[in-house]
Amino acid sequence: MKAYKLGVLQGDGIGPEIVSATVKVFKAAAQELNVKFDWTELPMGWEGIEKYNDPTPRYTKEMLNDCDGWILGPHDSAAYPPEHKAKRNPSGELRHTLDLYANIRPAKTMPGAKSVVGEADLIIYRENTEGFYTDRNMHIGGGEWQITPEVVVSAGVFTKKAAERIAHAAFKMAMQRRKKVTIVHKANVIKLGTGLFLNTCKEVAQQYPEVTVDDYHIDAMTAHLVRRARDFDIIVTENMFGDILSDLAGELVGSLGLAPSINTNENQAMAQAAHGSAPDIAGKNIANPIGIMLSTVMLMDWLSERHHDAKLHQVGQLVEEGINSCLKAGTMTGDLGGSASTSEFAEAIIARIGELA
Ligand code: ATP
Ligand code: MG
Repeated sequence: MKAYKLGVLQGDGIGPEIVSATVKVFKAAAQELNVKFDWTELPMGWEGIEKYNDPTPRYTKEMLNDCDGWILGPHDSAAYPPEHKAKRNPSGELRHTLDLYANIRPAKTMPGAKSVVGEADLIIYRENTEGFYTDRNMHIGGGEWQITPEVVVSAGVFTKKAAERIAHAAFKMAMQRRKKVTIVHKANVIKLGTGLFLNTCKEVAQQYPEVTVDDYHIDAMTAHLVRRARDFDIIVTENMFGDILSDLAGELVGSLGLAPSINTNENQAMAQAAHGSAPDIAGKNIANPIGIMLSTVMLMDWLSERHHDAKLHQVGQLVEEGINSCLKAGTMTGDLGGSASTSEFAEAIIARIGELA
């Protein structure tokens, strides 16, 4: 039986608390279902600075090349010493150097969280490497230029290749769901750039004739999302629009604190909660681990599909059912109105897993 190699990058702030709770829960589920994981702890962020004088150590990046996937805790790069602040933050560094081009962020109503838009179940496919967040180290030389002290040029970079691959990822997922894709752009104003994105997505759509396609300008889309979130299934968009839209969607259906995500390419996936490192509550054992746990459920589904191994999907399902069952019984952390600590919540999930399996 294959042992899947999974990296564990604890992160800063509440990262170590929520990541270790997550690993514990997944170890329990894997044991129940007889799945083997080889967990590898790797330094990043503050831990990287302490061990290698580098928040994104080369050692960690090399080790990740051998991992099937990994969990990335949140990082507090704003607090790093001045000599490390100018560098890319850990999350950006990994997205770019490993070319994790698809940021996949679901927004789904769940028990215990109040949705302001009723039932909804959608997934945003955000292009993760270019658009208006073009990296200045990109091969195209994109980014920002200070022309004079009072004039700056900020570039958006759009390539057909990047639009094609995110569109294919989105349409493939649509085929497994409600077969509906919404393309979000601003092709009436940013005609060439987001126009190329829109037209490329429409071209890709022709290879998926069963999928219904529509498209909206980003501004109109925010209104549609608030008014009728339940009508959307898969949304595909460029980097910055996707970043903003997914925070909105996450908060609409409950709480950004519960929102999961993964970052993927063809070969690897990185689980990452939507929230930050929450330094204000770090070290108190009160943080909610659901966002990072559900991100790891997504990682399991991704691995399951990539390796044609249904057991991995079952591991994720078991954890998700455990979480939902705790929420329905009123066991939750303080941010959701409960009184469980992070570690108590993890133990409660493990107990449910034992009953459910
Ligand atoms: P970043 O720039 O790293 O994304 P941020 O400014 O978006 O950080 P967060 O770190 O996400 O901020 O925290 C925002 C607020 O939400 C804080 O009050 C924090 O305590 C709370 N918060 C974030 N994550 C959690 C969590 N998992 N459990 C409970 N509260 C959280
Ligand atoms: Mg944030």
